[in-house]
Amino acid sequence: MPDRHEALDRLLAEAAARFGTPAYVYVTEAIQDRLDALNSAFGRWFDLSYAVKANPNPALLSWLRDRVATLDISSGGELAAATAQGWAPDRLSFTGPAKRDSELAAALAAGPVEVVVESLREARALDRLARDAGRVQPVLVRLSPAHVPRGFGDHMAGRPSPFGIDVEDAAAALAEIAALQGLALNGLHIYSGTQSLKPEAITENWRIFLQVFRTACDGLDLVPQRLIFGAGLGIPYHDGDTALDLTEIAADIGPDLDTFRAEPRFAATRLTLELGRFLVGEAGWFVTRVVTLKQSRGSTFALCDGGMNAHLAASGHFGMVIKRNYRMHRVGGGEPTARVDLTGPLCTSLDRLGSGVLLPPLAEGDLIAIHASGAYGPTASPTGFISHPAPREVLAEGGQLRDVTPRP
Ligand SMILES: *Cc1c(COP(=O)(O)O)cnc(C)c1O
Repeated sequence: MPDRHEALDRLLAEAAARFGTPAYVYVTEAIQDRLDALNSAFGRWFDLSYAVKANPNPALLSWLRDRVATLDISSGGELAAATAQGWAPDRLSFTGPAKRDSELAAALAAGPVEVVVESLREARALDRLARDAGRVQPVLVRLSPAHVPRGFGDHMAGRPSPFGIDVEDAAAALAEIAALQGLALNGLHIYSGTQSLKPEAITENWRIFLQVFRTACDGLDLVPQRLIFGAGLGIPYHDGDTALDLTEIAADIGPDLDTFRAEPRFAATRLTLELGRFLVGEAGWFVTRVVTLKQSRGSTFALCDGGMNAHLAASGHFGMVIKRNYRMHRVGGGEPTARVDLTGPLCTSLDRLGSGVLLPPLAEGDLIAIHASGAYGPTASPTGFISHPAPREVLAEGGQLRDVTPRP
């Protein structure tokens, strides 16, 4: 696909020239491709919820408003960000393991935000606030399964965990929550693992969700309005990673979902797939400029204007167990013939974007594009560390570029 590559590189070079580096460039057509693929594979069963923390850029939240059903927010700040982009409160669900009373009050004040309560304490606090306000707040309860299959990059359950209510304690906790007068128990939520590139691990995990949901709803005799599945779909970050085939996942899990749907209790239940990185991760590129080159004791260093401070995840310090290079290329092409270590502007040896990366011979001023950078970028990075400028954020839509860097 040399044409596609050249068109992308023209876009990245233009973004760097017009808005400066380091910069993140988000390409809306790539997100649309993901939406189309998800809807065609899973639309029979699921609607989609976007987890804002993956990329809370305001322009993205606005663009997504007519394209996904709901947002998963995880803080009072994300609640404000979503509301500012025109998201109605009844299209928001609010997760987070340690919500403060002020955040619960903000959700209540915003309207019928579906609060995903993660503990009995939180349910009681929200109930008190709701009754004081003369309101009934819709809630889901987040459950923490006892088992997560192997094959996920990160686990939020299947072991001691701060997230949600452990299934071992669920029956008693759910009975108490269901009886609280200030809350309307709309359904349940599970997000137990993520960044899986193994279809069989994903479907096995969703089968666990179905079983946990069934057991909990039977026990309470609850007819749930909504059940949220934290999808866990991974994306390829490194050479050798293989992208997921959604149709394979749908073919495997489809019969189980059909059976579930055929049960009267779940016939009218809205099922939601909640995901972040799978939607936006591969639609973003991080562009950093080579400031200078250094030969040192047999190694070549390319020292760039944006490093770990602007892109923590690519430096391997955001949940990566074994450090591996993100996929990257030199903007403008060229034969990759030389190994180079890419570092950033920080005075710490942690600031390394790649080790022994095979690239074309580099010159000062060259641009490096790091792939799969659309999720967990600027807001997951220590941008204030050593006071370099925050990265620019650029939205590309129909070949047109727009500076969408949020104002501090
Ligand atoms: C972070 C998060 C997600 C999204 O995770 P991805 O790995 O980006 O898909 C979904 N649900 C909840 C509750 C989250 O906290």
